[in-house]
Amino acid sequence: MARPPSADDLAALADASPLVVLLDIDGTLAPIAPRPEDARVPAETRAALRRLATRRDTVVAILTGRVASDARGMVDADGMLVVGNHGAERIEPDGSVRVDEAVAPFEAALARAAAELTERLAPIPGVLVEFKRWSLAVHYRLADHARLPHITSVVSEVASREGLRRGEGKEVFELRPPADVNKGTAALALLRRFGAPASGRGVLFAGDDVTDEDAFRRLAAEAPEAFTVRVGPPDAETAARFVVDDPAAVRVLLERLASLG
Ligand SMILES: [Mg+2]
Repeated sequence: MARPPSADDLAALADASPLVVLLDIDGTLAPIAPRPEDARVPAETRAALRRLATRRDTVVAILTGRVASDARGMVDADGMLVVGNHGAERIEPDGSVRVDEAVAPFEAALARAAAELTERLAPIPGVLVEFKRWSLAVHYRLADHARLPHITSVVSEVASREGLRRGEGKEVFELRPPADVNKGTAALALLRRFGAPASGRGVLFAGDDVTDEDAFRRLAAEAPEAFTVRVGPPDAETAARFVVDDPAAVRVLLERLASLG
């Protein structure tokens, strides 16, 4: 079971070289907002990220389900690698955009699915269809949950017709290409890219949701020394090693790491 990280845990992590810090945004850096466009990364947290990014032998990267360009704006992360759409696309520090080749062929199917879901579900009050080009999300946080069976069946029907995979998060359905591309594959690729040991030593990944568990599980299996942090209640079922309460606690953790020079 995951436990809160101790001062010794953090000191051991800070000792690693390189230190590779991978962070989800919503529910991890930014408090969850009723509508995704209203979510903000607090100024103190953005300051902590910038400070950590300038620490010696330290790389900070974002790993989110959001569109990469949108995520980049939220953390105002000039020069920070941002992996978006659960690993399907990334913005390099020089600003160039790369799309995973296993995902690219699904562009038209995703656009068709978004158009159809918008037509059929957007009229339901409180349902938001968010088209992210390489994935799409149907948010129902603000909808009458009595409509959930209908929403679920429409999402499933469209997903199966277009050959997309249906996943679930916090009051959201995610449709994604059926490729082996997720936060787990993305985290392992970043670990290798930044020269962290295969054991995962010196790699921190923090996230709060179902798609982050892909990364927690993958790291537990293939890079078991990775410092995985689930953001949420202490009894949450998770494959992460550590748990912290909320985005404010993540900020404190980042500040501590930055100061453990
Ligand atoms: Mg999240």
